Amino acid sequence: MSCDAPPSKEDLMPRKSRYDRGQTCIKCKSRRGNLVIKHAVYCSSCLPAMLVRKFRRALSSSLDPAAPSRGTPSRILPPDVVLGLSGGPSSSVLLDLVWKCFSVEGSGRKDERRQVGKVRAVHVDWSSLGGRCLVEPLKELCERYGIELEVVKGEDAFDPAWRTAVGLDNSITEIRVDMSSGRLPFLSSQAGPSDPLTNLRAHLRSLPTPTSVPATMHTLTRLLLLHTTTKVRCSVLVIGTSLPRLSIHLLETVAYGGGFALGTEREEIVSVGNADIKLVRPLRDWSLKELGWWLYSRQLSVPRGLDGKPTQELAPAGGKTIGKLTEDFVLGLERDYPSTVSTISKTAAKVVPSEAAAYRCVYCLRPAQRDASRWKAGTAILSLSTPIASSLSAPLPPPKTAPLLTEDNLAERLCYSCHTHFTARGGTGAGKIRVLEESGGFPETTMPLPVWVQRKLGEEQMKERIGEFLLEDE
Ligand SMILES: [Zn+2]
Ligand SMILES: [Zn+2]
Repeated sequence: MSCDAPPSKEDLMPRKSRYDRGQTCIKCKSRRGNLVIKHAVYCSSCLPAMLVRKFRRALSSSLDPAAPSRGTPSRILPPDVVLGLSGGPSSSVLLDLVWKCFSVEGSGRKDERRQVGKVRAVHVDWSSLGGRCLVEPLKELCERYGIELEVVKGEDAFDPAWRTAVGLDNSITEIRVDMSSGRLPFLSSQAGPSDPLTNLRAHLRSLPTPTSVPATMHTLTRLLLLHTTTKVRCSVLVIGTSLPRLSIHLLETVAYGGGFALGTEREEIVSVGNADIKLVRPLRDWSLKELGWWLYSRQLSVPRGLDGKPTQELAPAGGKTIGKLTEDFVLGLERDYPSTVSTISKTAAKVVPSEAAAYRCVYCLRPAQRDASRWKAGTAILSLSTPIASSLSAPLPPPKTAPLLTEDNLAERLCYSCHTHFTARGGTGAGKIRVLEESGGFPETTMPLPVWVQRKLGEEQMKERIGEFLLEDE
């Protein structure tokens, strides 16, 4: 080949075809395709049926793994389900699919409709922290589908009245911990304001890093949804986590040190109070393209808008959180290499912990490994409480992490990941986040805890609690 002659056809690399199997729909094999999904071409009349089948299969395999084949009646009573709606795109798709598959007005077959009993929806409203309130548009949307919507406020997690409403033990007073020690000892003094919103702000503000704020809000949302599910006496909570969102959560969980409970990101059964709640994510294999196509073809409205995130107002000024970095990475990957996003989820599904869980974390209710906080207590990463220069003459201050004690503290009842969020070092503090700046009378080192976190009872307290049932000594 000479420099001036134009390249001939043999000199060029063969161009890779956009479609692996031509341009005809792989289902009906007659019509011209409209959309490429994971290298397969579908026409616009075969695609909805494929997506409905995919949704139904994911839901039924989670609800009843030993379900009989299509057409035969199920052996279990159809469970009532609660849909957890955030108001984002996947919430709209989830609501529409549930209506389409399981309502008389939708096109679901009679035997298939019986998979699910009564359907309710729950939304956790964080607008008290400054975000947009989505209650009205969501109510309108649910009304259109004939589904009842229950609204829970974010600060309800710190409201004693809500604790009674969801059936938790209401004899316990609110709990606070001392954040200045890595062991997070409980504080005996109960003085101070106890308005739920002030407590919520103080809780988020006392977190040591900006990364912990959205992560903690995610956990609080999950727990509020789970407790509300027990309140309405349902055993299944369905949320609209899509494939990229699931992959983001999986990578985040690993980054936060939550690898032990990685499997629970896909599917989990959580003991809440006296009930076991199954948390199901039937859209966990849906790519953004599939979600977008469903929204477009069904002309659905999205209350939060297409790219609004619930925790955007709580993003730290200037700094980037692990969650945001992971999200940018996965969404970029989804655009150029969608198969890799699905590989993250498939690989994580194969990871199993090497030992059985020793206990459940009191904060996130996820399984925790034995001695989750012991490793941290022995690490050499310590903060000096006084600047080096002034401490040269004075003796070294005692390390912040106290030796292992037997006193009742929060640290040894948390999982590794929650403990990391509460005690991570080197952070700039969540106080830098604008809406959390005002302290509301709380000292920086005092953290109020959500109402489901309870102290272990001492022997005396236990006696007091069950006193009326004990027989008198002769
Ligand atoms: Zn077709
Ligand atoms: Zn935890």
